[in-house]
Amino acid sequence: MTFAKKILVTGGAGFIGSNYLNYAVKKYPRELFINVDALTYAADLRNVVVHDRKNYAFEKADICDRAAMAGIFEKYQPTHIIHFAAESHVDQSIADPSLCIRTNVEGTNALLKLARDHKIERFHLVSTDEIYGGLSAADAPRTESSPYDPGNPYSASKASAELLFLSYRRTYGIRGVITRSSNNYGPRQDTTKLIPKFITHLLQGRKVPLYAAGDNIRDWLYVDDDVRAIDLVFRKGREGEIYNIGGGQERTNLEVTKALLRLLKRTEKEIEYVADRPGHDFRYSLSSRKIERELGWKPRVSLEKGLKKTIAFYKEKIARQTGA
Ligand code: NAD
Repeated sequence: MTFAKKILVTGGAGFIGSNYLNYAVKKYPRELFINVDALTYAADLRNVVVHDRKNYAFEKADICDRAAMAGIFEKYQPTHIIHFAAESHVDQSIADPSLCIRTNVEGTNALLKLARDHKIERFHLVSTDEIYGGLSAADAPRTESSPYDPGNPYSASKASAELLFLSYRRTYGIRGVITRSSNNYGPRQDTTKLIPKFITHLLQGRKVPLYAAGDNIRDWLYVDDDVRAIDLVFRKGREGEIYNIGGGQERTNLEVTKALLRLLKRTEKEIEYVADRPGHDFRYSLSSRKIERELGWKPRVSLEKGLKKTIAFYKEKIARQTGA
């Protein structure tokens, strides 16, 4: 079968990548999606429910492994890349910064080189609002032209990946786009992250560990809304542009925790206040006016509705695992 596009998707067994594949593989049957994932702790191949489709292929490989990646490029001759793969855990990046430098910086550089040599038509770098650093309560939401100000090794490594991408555009004429999403939540997220961790703890009758007073603010984005936005920018975003993708729903971690407690019919006695993360960014806030104006995207899922869907997913997952 000849495919209209051959899209190499890195990190497709992780949270956002798998939700993207579940959306796009079905929606674009004439395009081939090649999922390349090293299957780290954050991955679960069962996340990819479209795995038996004819336009889906999986290759287990580390993006830093030159020989393996060169073999994959030779085998499939991809025309496009959507680069999700990353070490995405801030706490782990604080414990050992070299982990995220390797995948997020060296891995991105290795992929950019391959993209350059294989004349990839579009390289989509999936990035984060964390590159703007922490904001105060009074700061205006960050726009695409706000400066880089990363506050931890993870966000520094993502900012570095962006700078490498931008330098490859100027130096080698690589073609592509960057998206910067705010905090995602939803089904298939690794349970080391706040929302799935708190849901699974509460479902298992355990307390939830909340950093400091829980007053850090995040802009929550339901993963389906992010996936739709990423796909829109990948297909229709202007060449070389950067697009913010914000949920428009800023909440303190305490507010999110209280919403989960309410939805799961628990009380605030379940909160265990723990020592704060070092250098914890106080607030992230994104302006999504550019993607709204140029591509007509808006988030559709409210936090309340998204949390209900996420709880339903983890309830079913735990029931499957325990045979309950
Ligand atoms: P995740 O940790 O759930 O998934 C990352 C995936 O990448 C995993 O499947 C892992 O096995 C794979 N991977 C890691 N290192 C690899 C390597 N060296 N080679 C090949 N595969 C490797 O992450 P996520 O939350 O789905 O995030 C995806 C992307 O979106 C990341 O680039 C992240 O920076 C970005 N992002 C995430 C959020 C969020 O809230 N989760 C927000 C904004 C941006």
